[in-house]
Amino acid sequence: MARAAAKKEGAAVMWFRNDLRVADNAALRAAVAGGRRVLAVFVLDRRGDWTPGAASLWWLHGSLAALAGELEKRGAALVLREGDAAAIIPELATAIGADEVHCGRAHEPGVRALDERVAAALAEGGRTLVHHRVATLHDIGAVRTKTGGGYGIYAPFARAERALGAPETPHPAPARIAAVADVTGDRLDDWKLRPTTPDWAGRMRETWTPGEAGGHARLERFLRDHLADYAEERDRPANADGTSMLSPHLHWGELSPNQVWHAASDAKAGRGAKAGREKFEGEVLWHDFAANVLWNDPALPDRPQRPSMGTIPWRRDPQVLRAWQQGRTGVPIVDAGMRQLWQIGWMHNRVRMITASFIIKHALVDWVDGEKWFWDTLVDADLATNAMSWQWVAGSGTDSAPFFRVFNPVSQSRKFDPAGAYIRAWVPELAGLSDRDVHAPHEASPDVVKGTGYPRPVVDLAEGRDRALEAFRRTRATREDA
Ligand code: FAD
Repeated sequence: MARAAAKKEGAAVMWFRNDLRVADNAALRAAVAGGRRVLAVFVLDRRGDWTPGAASLWWLHGSLAALAGELEKRGAALVLREGDAAAIIPELATAIGADEVHCGRAHEPGVRALDERVAAALAEGGRTLVHHRVATLHDIGAVRTKTGGGYGIYAPFARAERALGAPETPHPAPARIAAVADVTGDRLDDWKLRPTTPDWAGRMRETWTPGEAGGHARLERFLRDHLADYAEERDRPANADGTSMLSPHLHWGELSPNQVWHAASDAKAGRGAKAGREKFEGEVLWHDFAANVLWNDPALPDRPQRPSMGTIPWRRDPQVLRAWQQGRTGVPIVDAGMRQLWQIGWMHNRVRMITASFIIKHALVDWVDGEKWFWDTLVDADLATNAMSWQWVAGSGTDSAPFFRVFNPVSQSRKFDPAGAYIRAWVPELAGLSDRDVHAPHEASPDVVKGTGYPRPVVDLAEGRDRALEAFRRTRATREDA
């Protein structure tokens, strides 16, 4: 009897990854169950492919500081370690005598491979790695076609996921955590995740509050004041409140999708609320869809899903790529988006599509180069969503706009930013232009931009479009494309 009680009390490791929250965290809940002593740990590994980019590391600092604060309030510390988790996690589990290590289930191929190594190393000592659903509404891989396969197209996926019913009701955070004492870790500041020379994060600090509390504050404000208008306003980049800006909080797991889903369902009904809620839910389902697409196709970030698209003769044009990265292409809506991205680590969805289309199609630069720039500069950089979205724009994904549908950035700009307010906010040298000229200063008289220093387009839009279509015509569909 005494032995059974001791066993139940035991110790467990809670291995935090992209689930940096204490509330509605199934892994943490399982770790603390039965009053076990818990060692909370986060392992940073900067080696290998697709490790967090510079903007993500900036976010991570704030998020880890916030998580450490939440754990401390409950009596536990967050232990930070850097290196190979396949060595660190089993070593910590052995040191504290933990039988189990709890963590969230990852869908990224690198983390899945790591988990196999960690599980194997733990098993040698008779210990277990236990996965929990922390980042999707339903279990990854649970949404299956009638023949048991994964979905490659969003609409039937969303229907099938909705048919599984409402996601689990969110759970509160544990009130107290019995902590394991005497395990030392690194100091967060010593990881130097934030930029110093130069410190480029000023506007990011003004825009964001990383961490669980910051995520909840943003969620509540969005649902209270803006959900009703979401369906209409979400495509207007000039309206900073038109979308929720929850993506970094969701990516880092400071909010669970279940919390977001249920909070939206519970939001007060009012004018337009139903349409707004349904559209918003649809976007959260896109997030789940992306996770499933990556789960089913681990090569998604690196290889076109339609093999024929791998035969496009991409141009190596470092000058154009640089102009795009710096927001100096001479196409105002593209430059506005790229400068918003650089300054606040986030870009409006409509403009992500326009900027991605410009670099892939008008400039004929490989989508992977664009994907990598977004990966380094987005605070919400998410392997699944980023890769799937780049493939969507490139026309190489299983659920994609066809390559030959080339966005005209000037018409997009006139349609979605009619008064040019978004352009004026991010490209201030064009602020004085008329509503007509601000979208396409190159079409106006040269006097219009005189003295502004604003460049001419680095790619002629009509020529770029024709070149892209010609390149596409030369690709040959293969049987694997079907
Ligand atoms: P809202 O409109 O408020 O939507 C709510 C939530 O739904 C978002 O926070 C996000 O988690 C999810 N969501 C919204 N749109 C999409 C979408 N198209 N696909 C999947 N999930 C979606 N999103 C990322 O989170 N990380 C990325 O790295 C990323 N890269 C992208 C790259 C390109 C080229 C494109 C076109 C889109 C990319 N997106 C990415 C998707 C989308 O642009 C962002 O999720 C959205 O702009 C985030 O803003 P929000 O939180 O205000 O969204």
